Amino acid sequence: MQMRNDSKHQRIEAIAEEIRNCRKCNLSKTRTNAVPGEGDADSSVVLIGEAPGYWEDRKGRPFVGAAGKVLDEALEKIGLRRAEIFITNVLKCRPPGNRDPRSEEIRACTPFLDRQLEIIKPRFIVTLGRHSTSYLFSKMNLNFYSITRVHGQIYEARFADWESYVMPTFHPAAALYNVNLREDLINDLRLLKEKMRLLNK
Ligand code: URA
Repeated sequence: MQMRNDSKHQRIEAIAEEIRNCRKCNLSKTRTNAVPGEGDADSSVVLIGEAPGYWEDRKGRPFVGAAGKVLDEALEKIGLRRAEIFITNVLKCRPPGNRDPRSEEIRACTPFLDRQLEIIKPRFIVTLGRHSTSYLFSKMNLNFYSITRVHGQIYEARFADWESYVMPTFHPAAALYNVNLREDLINDLRLLKEKMRLLNK
């Protein structure tokens, strides 16, 4: 039986508290709740979305609206439970009207994501959509052109003192009204699950 790593959980919770009190950008003025992310800090898998939407802002939890339902269905299809993974976003507060994140917001907020990743040191990172993929690619010194070109490919990434497999896929919100993208999302996640199985993770 695997022991729960309390220090990791405590450090992740300490960052969550910092995020809830953060005033580094203007999104703190319009948010209802910050959404630090949630799940198992001991997990080998981290999923990264873009930013909280309406329901996430209301509840302070990631992917609890319509896109979350698509994500949950995809995870269920490949046999992964939310409780087994960690889910977070590039931005921890909702941009008004769900507009795209601005570069100054990404600059202000991503140190939180970096610290979450440094604590969890996930073996597998799934980037959901172009914003999180573009951010992770910049950390990996890779050029990002489009999610269509890179989805479903597994990239080996070397960070400060750990290594991850990074797999971009479509954002569940994009797959909401597009059956083909929903299938792509599920197939991409299947590939990742297969990689995990091969590596015994
Ligand atoms: N979209 C995201 O990118 N993240 C969420 O948490 C919800 C919707």
